[in-house]
Amino acid sequence: MSQVRGNLFILSAPSGAGKSSLINALLERHSDMKVSVSHTTRQARPGENNAEHYHFVAVDEFKKLIETNDFLEWAQVFENYYGTSKQSIEIQLAQGIDVFLDIDWQGAQQIRKVLPQVQTIFILPPSKDELENRLNNRGQDSEEVIKSRMDKAQSEMSHYNEFDYLIINDDFDTALYQLETIVFGQRLKRSNQSLKFKTLISDLLPA
Ligand code: 5GP
Repeated sequence: MSQVRGNLFILSAPSGAGKSSLINALLERHSDMKVSVSHTTRQARPGENNAEHYHFVAVDEFKKLIETNDFLEWAQVFENYYGTSKQSIEIQLAQGIDVFLDIDWQGAQQIRKVLPQVQTIFILPPSKDELENRLNNRGQDSEEVIKSRMDKAQSEMSHYNEFDYLIINDDFDTALYQLETIVFGQRLKRSNQSLKFKTLISDLLPA
């Protein structure tokens, strides 16, 4: 078997759709899948660690990284800047690791243009009521913030039809299984398999 490059996936969803829980569960099960750690100018929330959840940076530093062309994509989301660094992704893909980008629709649009092979997945909540419940259950934000999150969720969801795959996160285990299926399906594409099994194929089909 030859080492092949990892696959790149974008996972987008409105806040409250359960995207982070799905990614965490997936990574717990598979050591050959990783999530890219973005840079952001927003404040760390309680329980968030620098370099683990995000690279938390000042606006000036973020702007410097834009100027030095360090980002594969960047966008302003909820009044803060967020960006995906080129370098960290490249190192992992080169090691054969499948990389997930937990980014918004603006980032997905930018990456599709430069890396058309990227596989994009959108996650929707099972209902509007459930979305509202999930945003309330976080218990970390004021009512005003929750209302504004709800409006932004609607705006994020309006882009679901730009994505390759759609998962409705009603039953968590089912959604996780569906996410795994997408990753495994991509790994089994002939373009990936014929590189991985190059030696076998040339044995079976000598020139
Ligand atoms: P939060 O502040 O709740 O962690 O994330 C807010 C939004 O920013 C989410 O939709 C998340 O997917 C998006 N986001 C996180 N990192 C990036 C990034 O590097 N680029 C872009 N375009 N969006 C990001």
